[in-house]
Amino acid sequence: MRHLLLVLGDQLDRDASGFDDFDPKRDAVWMAEVAEESEHIWSSKQRIALFLSAMRHFRDRLTQEKIPLHYTVIDDPTNTQSIASELKRTIARLRPEKLVMTAPGDWRVLQAIKVVAAAQSVPLDIREDRHFFSTVREFAEHAKGRKQLRLEYWVRALRVRHNILMDGGAPLGGQWNFDQDNRESFEKEGPRDVPAPKRFTPDEITRDVIKLVNRRFGRHPGTVSASQDSFGWPVTREEALEVLDDFLTHRLAQFGRFQDAMWTDQPWLFHAHIASALNLKLLSAREVVHAAERAFRHQSTDTIPLSAVEGFIRQILGWREYVRGIYWTQMPGYVDRNALNAHEPLPAFFWTAETEMTCLRQALTQTLALGYAHHIQRLMVTGLYCLLFGVSPRQVHEWYLSVYVDAVEWVELPNTIGMSQAADGGLMASKPYAASGQYIRRMSNYCQNCRFDPSQSVGQDACPITTLYWDFLSRHEKQLEKNPRMVMQIRNLKRLTDEQRDAISLTAAQHRQAVNGKIKGLKQSLSSVIKAPKQSTRRSS
Ligand SMILES: Cc1cc2nc3c(=O)[nH]c(=O)nc-3n(C[C@H](O)[C@H](O)[C@H](O)COP(=O)(O)OP(=O)(O)OC[C@H]3O[C@@H](n4cnc5c(N)ncnc54)[C@H](O)[C@@H]3O)c2cc1C
Ligand code: SF4
Repeated sequence: MRHLLLVLGDQLDRDASGFDDFDPKRDAVWMAEVAEESEHIWSSKQRIALFLSAMRHFRDRLTQEKIPLHYTVIDDPTNTQSIASELKRTIARLRPEKLVMTAPGDWRVLQAIKVVAAAQSVPLDIREDRHFFSTVREFAEHAKGRKQLRLEYWVRALRVRHNILMDGGAPLGGQWNFDQDNRESFEKEGPRDVPAPKRFTPDEITRDVIKLVNRRFGRHPGTVSASQDSFGWPVTREEALEVLDDFLTHRLAQFGRFQDAMWTDQPWLFHAHIASALNLKLLSAREVVHAAERAFRHQSTDTIPLSAVEGFIRQILGWREYVRGIYWTQMPGYVDRNALNAHEPLPAFFWTAETEMTCLRQALTQTLALGYAHHIQRLMVTGLYCLLFGVSPRQVHEWYLSVYVDAVEWVELPNTIGMSQAADGGLMASKPYAASGQYIRRMSNYCQNCRFDPSQSVGQDACPITTLYWDFLSRHEKQLEKNPRMVMQIRNLKRLTDEQRDAISLTAAQHRQAVNGKIKGLKQSLSSVIKAPKQSTRRSS
């Protein structure tokens, strides 16, 4: 055999660089389903089902094309259940002259493959991943000499280089960023005319996988069943293209405006639901961005505002490429960053959704049932709570990596460590995304259906997020007051009396005790219910 082409579970792209010089007469593809990928973190049933089903559909596509393929299923009794050991076994059997692959997304997987190739003395040819607009080298060049990295400069450079939403040398509409237009909440009556999401009835392959997942990974988090309401994710390129088309036709127009808004029992809203398809490489970032720009430029009526299409493209051309650059330039140490010295364990209710806090119950329930929550639910509900509670960033990272269908480490880790937990010391975000319950009240109707009051920081009705917000500012006052973007928040904190601060600390400690049975030594007792100080209802970009 000349080349053994390694295709990982998140590389399901027939046009990937690994296939460039593939010769079916002399080469073969290698794919393996291994338990290690679902167990090194406690992967949810939704996530495992998605990966296995998409891999099996890709396997069948290659087989139809008569591409020689060595594919190991997870239930094969000879399967050694790790990428490294399966690869080693295959190399010993097939003796390829060279291993070829498109650059993998995960640092851990790359190291494992390199070690096997070196130990077996087989050359390893790793090729650029053309799925992305930028290369890691380009990002490293951009990052050189900068203490802090900021999305805005990066996304502008990419727009110019790739001529996206440009009008000659200037940004289309004369403005680079429409974030200020894109932060609306819904009216009192809630979202109107939310289109039903594009979901797919599980076919035979998916149904078999779902049975397997429930049998073999029954103790893993969340639920999955063969009904479309439970599992309707795209598992082939054709289905992924349908989801994209559905978004561009029915949701893009409202995407920007309601990008940050949340509503009870409305998991899908005006989001695209394409992250899993993008991360499995069923869709390419380039085609998604070009399709969105085309939809905007070719619309016959003026229904898609520029702010919506810019907001959407910024997520993919901007955030997605940016976090990939951060991941590859900061690994392996990035996973252990803990700038705020947070060491609390992840609250158990993150695995059950059993909590009285409506915002968290809503976000967690849909996460465990569907493997999905939109960005603001991740950043400003679950992420915010962990940040304020002081959960160890590593545990927060492992939770996010396990529960979402789109979870792959290179995207998830910077979003968690950098953006959500401010654990990288400000490398990725200019300030912690810290807000009180008042932010959630402004952006959703969750608080209307909650037993807590977001305006209260102490007392029986105190909203735990509001209490923890002030407690967070107090605990990190020295560190945060050096940050010019925290001036307002720290100024409001300084207006509190010592008694008010003590009462908040005690309420926060009582909340922690109720959640994880721990109370830190706090001597003063709660004297009276205090008037809630002015709270942050905004989040920064
Ligand atoms: C703590 C935390 C963890 C996250 N973990 C992941 C993850 O594991 N995988 C993942 O793909 N996204 C992750 N995100 C980013 C974002 O929340 C999801 O991409 C998005 O919610 C997916 O839903 P959607 O496809 O409907 O996205 P939309 O809201 O419709 O956005 C469109 C697309 O833009 C991209 N995008 C949007 N925001 C981001 C972002 N911050 N970083 C990178 N890409 C972005 C995604 O590809 C997404 O599909 C995380 C965010 C946070 C705060
Ligand atoms: S009151 Fe507090 S806990 Fe309840 S939904 Fe609002 S923010 Fe969440």
